[in-house]
Amino acid sequence: MTQLKILIAGAGIAGLAAKRAFALRGIEADIVERDPVPRTTGAGLYLPGNAVRALRDLGLHEPLMQVAEPVYRQELRDVRGRVLAGFPVNAIWGDVGECLAIRRKDLHGLLLDAVGTSEVRFGTAVREVGPDGTVRFDDGTRSRYDLVVGADGIYSPVRFSAYPSVEPDFLGQVCWRFLAPSTSVAAGTWTVMLGDRGRTFLAVPVGEGEVYCNAAIGSADPVGPAGDWRSLFSDFSEPVTELLAHADEAHYAPLYEIRNDERTRPHVVLIGDAEHACSPSMAQGSAMAVEDALVLAETLAGARERATVPPLLAAYRERRADRLRFVLKQNHARDRARNLPTVVRRVLFRHFATNIFRANHAGLLPRP
Ligand SMILES: Cc1cc2nc3c(=O)[nH]c(=O)nc-3n(C[C@H](O)[C@H](O)[C@H](O)COP(=O)(O)OP(=O)(O)OC[C@H]3O[C@@H](n4cnc5c(N)ncnc54)[C@H](O)[C@@H]3O)c2cc1C
Repeated sequence: MTQLKILIAGAGIAGLAAKRAFALRGIEADIVERDPVPRTTGAGLYLPGNAVRALRDLGLHEPLMQVAEPVYRQELRDVRGRVLAGFPVNAIWGDVGECLAIRRKDLHGLLLDAVGTSEVRFGTAVREVGPDGTVRFDDGTRSRYDLVVGADGIYSPVRFSAYPSVEPDFLGQVCWRFLAPSTSVAAGTWTVMLGDRGRTFLAVPVGEGEVYCNAAIGSADPVGPAGDWRSLFSDFSEPVTELLAHADEAHYAPLYEIRNDERTRPHVVLIGDAEHACSPSMAQGSAMAVEDALVLAETLAGARERATVPPLLAAYRERRADRLRFVLKQNHARDRARNLPTVVRRVLFRHFATNIFRANHAGLLPRP
């Protein structure tokens, strides 16, 4: 058992994965969550092979397979629904792991079950972290930790407190996410339809007759367009119109990126979106969050003294750096491809899609 006093701030995907990974290695940690109860909002997540491998390494393969939907094939289509490219996902991932689609609340729920709901102090937010790991909570109490794990999402108060100069960069894209009942989207297929001006519409079945949809556009302004956003997709062929009829409560999000710049605080580490939020183009948000948790737990295993924390954090960051850079680089390449003229993109994807997707993911095939 480690005798370090550790706090995990945030019980989202990264925080719960860290709590679970720590427990598997005999590392105790307190975990706090700002929300008073587990939030069941959210739409869906595509879990590519390395995400499923990481969840398997947390011992969660069985419950995952019970609630997630297999994805066997990826298809890129134009606005009229004509197939530009299609390939089986195992052409990309081989035997790394299955690819799955899941409601975000189901992934969150299975991590919470694995950790134990009573382990999480809900309704407790971290307000500030001092240089020595002293945490001030929003109820005014303070406590000093040997390590604070900031797993508190893209707008991370832990990051803001430790690194106030780090600003999320707006990526010039905004999106709407929602779940829609539909039987028109082929089972087991991840489909993205590509329009001009950065317009994309992703649809992937998540089981029980529901489809996770993510509609994105290029936008100079994080506030997004006025009026009914759905009209921006009126030239997209079915099943888009049918799916959009269920988008009244779609969740709107401007997309930001946090760069993995040098972090130097000796008793603070950031994981998940708090450290490296990025464009969803590579669908690596949850995968990177769970990988972070596994690698951090492995790095800390056996640590007993406060003085060992800073060099272990340096080793952790060093081990993750190349992987995070790789994901950012691939995201940027994909975002550029999204904005190519339609004709160029059509030719590119028709002839080279499988090779491009393989190269996009090559750096993610080895274990983290
Ligand atoms: C409710 C919700 C729904 C989402 N739905 C989708 C979706 O449908 N599709 C998609 O692609 N992505 C979604 N996301 C984002 C997605 O979960 C993340 O991009 C990714 O999984 C990485 O997870 P994370 O744990 O780093 O961040 P998050 O999942 O955002 O988790 C961060 C957690 O930290 C908590 N927190 C924040 N500040 C504090 C604080 N000061 N003290 C304590 N706790 C704090 C938050 O309440 C949250 O529970 C959603 C996030 C949330 C919170």
